[in-house]
Amino acid sequence: MQNDNTLTSKKLTDITGNDFSQAYEEFLKQGDFISLTRQFEQGFTQTGRDNQLSFNVKKAKVSILDTGILLVEPENSTTSVKPSKSIVISSAIHGNETAPIEIVQQLISDIVAQNIQVKHRTLFIMGNPVAMNIAKRFQTENLNRLFCGKHQDIAPCFEKDRAEKLETYVSDFFNAGTDSSDSDVTNYHYDLHTAIRNSKHEKFAIYPYQGDKPWDKEQLSFMAACGVNTILFGHGPTGTFSYYSSANFSAHAFTVELGKVRPFGENNMANFSAMTEKLTALICDEDLLLNSFDNKDFNLYTALGDITKVSNNFKLFIDDSASNFTDYPVDTLLSTDTGEEYRTTQPGESIVFPNAKVGNGQRAVLMVVPTTLS
Ligand SMILES: [Zn+2]
Repeated sequence: MQNDNTLTSKKLTDITGNDFSQAYEEFLKQGDFISLTRQFEQGFTQTGRDNQLSFNVKKAKVSILDTGILLVEPENSTTSVKPSKSIVISSAIHGNETAPIEIVQQLISDIVAQNIQVKHRTLFIMGNPVAMNIAKRFQTENLNRLFCGKHQDIAPCFEKDRAEKLETYVSDFFNAGTDSSDSDVTNYHYDLHTAIRNSKHEKFAIYPYQGDKPWDKEQLSFMAACGVNTILFGHGPTGTFSYYSSANFSAHAFTVELGKVRPFGENNMANFSAMTEKLTALICDEDLLLNSFDNKDFNLYTALGDITKVSNNFKLFIDDSASNFTDYPVDTLLSTDTGEEYRTTQPGESIVFPNAKVGNGQRAVLMVVPTTLS
């Protein structure tokens, strides 16, 4: 690390007034962004693009914008490739989903150690540092329901504040990419998660609802190359982080579920190597070596509808331990409620995200059916 990157003469404090300088020096040496983020979970006093927390690596500028927010910008003039992509890679929108955090950490430490050269603008995010520190999905509110302005509808809490900040960082990032280039810039957002329950297909991705736009087959091929060949097509607007980027910035975006939640250090990172390698290739502008799309390489699902809990008489006949994408024969009784019942009607009809403990009027199960793309 070069000397001009040290900040020994500057006193930096976090939002609660704690001295930040030493932790930052440590980060410059070790590249441990998890540690830095967890030490200053509430955020830094000094935020924004033109802050002092910037240093240079291989022909790129690295800036820490806030706790868990790290921006990498390649130098336009010195790279052979013109930056034409703006890429968001996010993790820890749910704080206990550690594998995605470790993937983001791997990429950041490779950048800080100058093992790789980033050629496209990239924004790395560890979304909920408070939840990371208590090893919970969230502290007060599920952050991945609060995007697209839905944070405005809830009472003050860390997640409300954080959702608003994340929207601002992401929107500034995509807007700056468009403003600073005289050519077309393509936006990407991969929001990495792990699931609470088992899944018949270990890894899967939710492709946010696209309205009239077609599903992008090259993006599906990219997902497959990342080791994710089960895709659930979104069926309407939501408050998820990936939908926010897709709907507002036309980003190629996915919520990627990489298997089951485990504590820090208990993830078999070899299981995620394809994801880490392809994300590295994407940000470094290496050949992605994608296969052309073929339905037979995928498990594609489209939403059929929700089983909604209407009253306190709701009964769900799906075991709590049932895996996502478990399918049932036609005419299987899955739930009863006041005056109604739900029976499967389609071959291959399968469940996703079953949860009987929701409030009245909320979705207890998402029903999906296999599909193909023409
Ligand atoms: Zn999650």
